[in-house]
Amino acid sequence: MSASWKSLAQLDAAVSECRACPRLVEWREHVARTKRAAFADQTYWGRPVPGFGPDDAALAIVGLAPAAHGGNRTGRMFTGDRSGDVLFKALYDVGLASQPTATHRDDGLTLRGTRITAPVHCAPPANKPTPGERDTCRHWLADELALLRPTLKAVVVLGAFGWQALLPVLAEAGWTIPRPRPKFGHDVHITLDGPTPLHLLGCYHVSQQNTFTGKLTPAMLRAVLEQAKGLAGLVGLTATEGNRDA
Ligand code: SF4
Repeated sequence: MSASWKSLAQLDAAVSECRACPRLVEWREHVARTKRAAFADQTYWGRPVPGFGPDDAALAIVGLAPAAHGGNRTGRMFTGDRSGDVLFKALYDVGLASQPTATHRDDGLTLRGTRITAPVHCAPPANKPTPGERDTCRHWLADELALLRPTLKAVVVLGAFGWQALLPVLAEAGWTIPRPRPKFGHDVHITLDGPTPLHLLGCYHVSQQNTFTGKLTPAMLRAVLEQAKGLAGLVGLTATEGNRDA
């Protein structure tokens, strides 16, 4: 539980050493060895990808799992893939990211009041973790959210998998989940009771499947992030201000 972690930095370091899921360990390391041709000269991270963002974040963005040649290559959530290109551009546009691009761990990008994480920290084959892998990884996210609890006011969940995985984690971290369980949907907004009220917002995942087909447009994503930013109290930020102050 969170009591055993002194800080998010300590938790992040421990996450990145985890080997609890044999199938995912084998896959992430196989991808790191074989690489995509375009990245043949790079050293892949090939390990669990910890959350990214400040330890006093008011807003969390929860995805699915790292991409094989994105986070699993660069070692940072949503960094180095098309999904991340869309997400970070939108975060920059609403003032929550210091720059619109994310290419590698040392590119200087910082997030303002926002932490990006996932219910599964290792890249899964075909982007599909098993329910068992999701459940095995759950405690990392529960501990991360428990550490963020003093400042956390809102969570944006990208996609139905993240939504279903997150609800029990939020319960474990101290928030009350209504019965029946609220269903995922784009633009869904519910408020959970708990140590402090928590706003939960649904958003279609920033996958290429959704963004290429127009199911999720940049304007739709910006609108959810703007709403979440306001609910989290991260008001008064613009792209320029976020850049300057981050
Ligand atoms: S998915 Fe989570 S629990 Fe499984 S090996 Fe990776 S970090 Fe560990």
